[in-house]
Amino acid sequence: MTTRVVVTGGAGFLGSHLCERLLADGCEVLALDNFLTGSPTNVEHLMEHDGFRLRKADITDHIHVPGPVDQILHFASPASPIDYLQLPIETLKVGSIGTLHALGLAKEKGSRFLLASTSETYGDPQVHPQPETYWGHVNPVGPRGVYDEAKRYAEALTMAYRRTHNVDAAILRIFNTYGERMRPNDGRAIPTFIRQALKREPITVAGDGSQTRSVCYVSDLVEGILRLLRSDLAGPVNIGNPYELTMLELAERIKELSKSDSEIVFVPRPEDDPSVRQPDITLAKRELQWEPQVELADGLGRTIEWFRGHPELVG
Ligand code: NAD
Repeated sequence: MTTRVVVTGGAGFLGSHLCERLLADGCEVLALDNFLTGSPTNVEHLMEHDGFRLRKADITDHIHVPGPVDQILHFASPASPIDYLQLPIETLKVGSIGTLHALGLAKEKGSRFLLASTSETYGDPQVHPQPETYWGHVNPVGPRGVYDEAKRYAEALTMAYRRTHNVDAAILRIFNTYGERMRPNDGRAIPTFIRQALKREPITVAGDGSQTRSVCYVSDLVEGILRLLRSDLAGPVNIGNPYELTMLELAERIKELSKSDSEIVFVPRPEDDPSVRQPDITLAKRELQWEPQVELADGLGRTIEWFRGHPELVG
């Protein structure tokens, strides 16, 4: 029997990679997306596939899917700081009402459910690296609170459906991920640095660049997501690359790999920008036998080539 999967946010950066991989694995995929921050062009190459359907739908209105649904990957939500700062109410609505509807569908259909949560639930962490047992350090009333708290609420709701309605639900905490089909202007560090490097504009590093991030290439993340989906774990489970580097190092690597002569300049740091971020992936290693495989230079190289091949996006 073919596995039928619903992917909310299926036309987004991560959603499109998930749809691609699920189809390659022989699943039937229905992507639901309102194209708020994603685009049908992200899944254009999948349209010919018999097992793929894309439906324009705002999941905060309602979700109705005829027939059986084996698995639900709930990925709809603005995710980059520029997006959620411009779309604060939409972000809170999709994290709350959208998650309620997605869990309602899982309850109705008896589906395995996976919530795409985030390392942002740890806020500006006071424990480093961050294990799943850490409760976080989030400012609920700061501008970033709309995203962090929407996801924290979504996690609480997911656990409530698991405990109260026996929904086979799991929580995944995704750490910064990069790769092909990110938007060059989405404000996240890697696409911004690549766009600037390719256009030979100054590469803008926030603060003094000593804040750290751990970045995971998208194919590694997708593998981790599918292992969690196909397990019976409830999570939360961190999926990310523990290799940590400073933002300045990241800018230098991108400059070097794209053979750019852009200069690196320093700009003010955004409010509540976390100073460190690194996943503790002991749980994923032990329970899912998962760890990232793609080297930074390799993943960045592939991403830079993709951006180079899309000059219309880079501008
Ligand atoms: P993205 O913006 O590319 O994708 C999100 C998708 O959700 C978009 O296609 C958007 O149009 C859709 N969407 C938003 N609101 C919707 C609604 N109300 N109804 C239907 N569709 C809606 O972002 P992404 O980077 O692919 O992130 C996907 C998910 O993964 C998000 O939930 C995000 O919080 C989570 N995540 C991503 C990262 C990362 O590094 N990319 C890190 C942590 C968590």
